[in-house]
Amino acid sequence: MKSKYFWWIVLALTLAVLACDRDKEASPATQTPATQTPATSAAAETKETPLNLPPDSGPPPSFDGDRAMQYVKDIVKLGPRPLGSANHKKVEDYIDSRLEGDQVEDDVFTADTPVGKFPVHNIVAKYPGTKDGIIIIASHYDTNYPLKDSPYVGANDGGSSSALLLELANQLRGKTRDGYSVWLVWDDAEEAMKSEKDMPFMDDSLYGISHLADKWQADGTLKKVKAFLLADMIGDADLSVERDSNSTQWLENVVYEAATRLGYQSHFFERNNQVSDDHLPFVKRGVACADLIDFEYGYNNVFWHTPQDTVDKLSPMSLKIVGSVVLETVRIVDKMDPLPPK
Ligand SMILES: [Zn+2]
Repeated sequence: MKSKYFWWIVLALTLAVLACDRDKEASPATQTPATQTPATSAAAETKETPLNLPPDSGPPPSFDGDRAMQYVKDIVKLGPRPLGSANHKKVEDYIDSRLEGDQVEDDVFTADTPVGKFPVHNIVAKYPGTKDGIIIIASHYDTNYPLKDSPYVGANDGGSSSALLLELANQLRGKTRDGYSVWLVWDDAEEAMKSEKDMPFMDDSLYGISHLADKWQADGTLKKVKAFLLADMIGDADLSVERDSNSTQWLENVVYEAATRLGYQSHFFERNNQVSDDHLPFVKRGVACADLIDFEYGYNNVFWHTPQDTVDKLSPMSLKIVGSVVLETVRIVDKMDPLPPK
């Protein structure tokens, strides 16, 4: 026994151990932020039934990456914007000033956090469409609270996606869409108030977007939401948006189709991840969600949540790519009738 089969047994045990390790890496990590789940390699494919997509028609969407980049610079110039700070109020005012004349819903409440009570201010701009239903596009705009005394300005984390939404507003303003209504949501208090080593991210974050999800569930709005698209950390000049396994796979597939139609697919889904982000309160309530996040910001994500998260790492082209893909995704979803089951 020993002599003849020993090395085969050693080999079998080794393979079993390796298989266990792989399972561990792929296991759900809902208690950790985006952050701690390592991106796994490759594979954009899923084994789902093919989507019945409308034909590619109409001109490609227009999105001004340079103007979006200017918005990032304007936001970052205001300095760190943690919850409860004077700079936070300045960013609120800046976003409001760019939405003058638009239909805006302010969702203001007090959040009870592990470091005290803070005012929270979600800003929702609504652009009407001819179809009954709503597509939400969201981004948080606050910066991480524990970093409040450092020069951390979150150019990519919170800055880039908030600016992206401001430019989307420019594209949506002043016309009735031939499709679903689009609501742009600048959600507040997304970032943790305590350091992740002191408190799990999911117990101390997403204050603003959770409040909106609760409110819209209570008043019946949630039933009308056809899709929820989230943008986060999408300004990186080295843009590589990940496929997120917490998102709804058919909507992720539509994002990839949109990217492919525009010729931007090489920037999408080269890596897989499982991301805990602002979309989770809507995922939990059964809304189709796609999180567009590039969670490899610098080698090994080295710039994330550090004073090195500055505008020089970003590119107007990345903003244009993601902005255009978001608009194209919306246009495809408009024409998908019926939408796939959730
Ligand atoms: Zn962050």
